Amino acid sequence: MNIPFNKPYATGRELGYISEVIKNAKICGDGSFTKKCQRFFETKFGFKKALLTTSCTDALEMAAILIDTKAGDEIIVPSFTFVSTVNAFILRGATIKFADVESATGNLDVSQLHSLINSKTKAIVPVHYAGVACDMDAVMKIANENNLFVIEDAAQAVDSYYKGKPLGSIGHLSAFSFHETKNIICGEGGMIVMNDERFFNRAEIIREKGTNRSSFFRGEIDKYGWVDMGSSFLPSELVAAYLYAQCENLEDIQNKRISLWNCYQENLAVLGEKRLIQLPFHPEYATNNAHMYYIVCNTPDERTRLNSHLKSKGISAVFHYQSLHRSVYYHDKHDGRNLPVTDKLSDGLLRLPMFYELETDHVKKVCSAIKEFYSE
Ligand SMILES: *Cc1c(COP(=O)(O)O)cnc(C)c1O
Repeated sequence: MNIPFNKPYATGRELGYISEVIKNAKICGDGSFTKKCQRFFETKFGFKKALLTTSCTDALEMAAILIDTKAGDEIIVPSFTFVSTVNAFILRGATIKFADVESATGNLDVSQLHSLINSKTKAIVPVHYAGVACDMDAVMKIANENNLFVIEDAAQAVDSYYKGKPLGSIGHLSAFSFHETKNIICGEGGMIVMNDERFFNRAEIIREKGTNRSSFFRGEIDKYGWVDMGSSFLPSELVAAYLYAQCENLEDIQNKRISLWNCYQENLAVLGEKRLIQLPFHPEYATNNAHMYYIVCNTPDERTRLNSHLKSKGISAVFHYQSLHRSVYYHDKHDGRNLPVTDKLSDGLLRLPMFYELETDHVKKVCSAIKEFYSE
């Protein structure tokens, strides 16, 4: 029996909704399914305004444009993240100040922020790693004191909460992903969330190639034209139709993932207690949306050997982020500070299979294989 790392899930309604789109002969963006998805997120999570995008990468690029990122600006980002979190700002000419992360969560180490902020700093971009909340009160306090924007990279954080507040609803802007590896999916897709009204109008324009076409379609103006910079950031209705079926099944998807996650955590607890591996941790202020189950090995060599052991049993596990401050593209642009926790997670973290159709028997098999490895 082979256990893949991920398998994209279809709830059953996707094809029907996609057929509806085809029948209605409006397959470009901003049709009824896009609006339904946006309303779903705004209603369920209290987001002031949500716009679907073609990816989380694009939502982050929109955010970088919306805060007027320009050459000379500094953006504070954890080094333990996906390249899109930083590329969005690099594309606008900004400099990245990499922060280290906390060992227990992989989230931005807030205690470092003060030393990274100066007159050039424009924004802080916390990443809710594995869907677990960063300490957002602390981030917002420092940002407000220093007049900085906060853009939450909530790519993994759908239906996850900080002190009862949905992730994505706290920063000025936030970005979600519906890539097929996330909790709810549409292949490639994302969403920008705006919690500050000053961005609403301009976001619509940037997303529609720098034109005021959205306002034209609502009948607010009698012709539309080029009014700002922009790109094509809106997804097709075919994609939104798939996503809407997932939105309708969010609760079921989350319940299943959480039960699988708990099964991992229970079965591996003994290895965690013996400190043979590090298990995931949720601070009191954070909920678990079961985006990811990972373990942290003590050395890179141990991780390589464990991964081969799992592979020999037909189990696919994968590494995650490689420290961005050590990357081919940025290591010589980084200011040289060591970020030891980022490196430790980058070298030791292993993600285990996690997807809707996984069964607890599979999880138990993965856990037994890991225990076998550590008993040798
Ligand atoms: C998945 C992910 C992204 C990118 O999302 P796409 O929708 O593939 O562009 C960005 N940041 C983080 C933290 C992610 O996990």
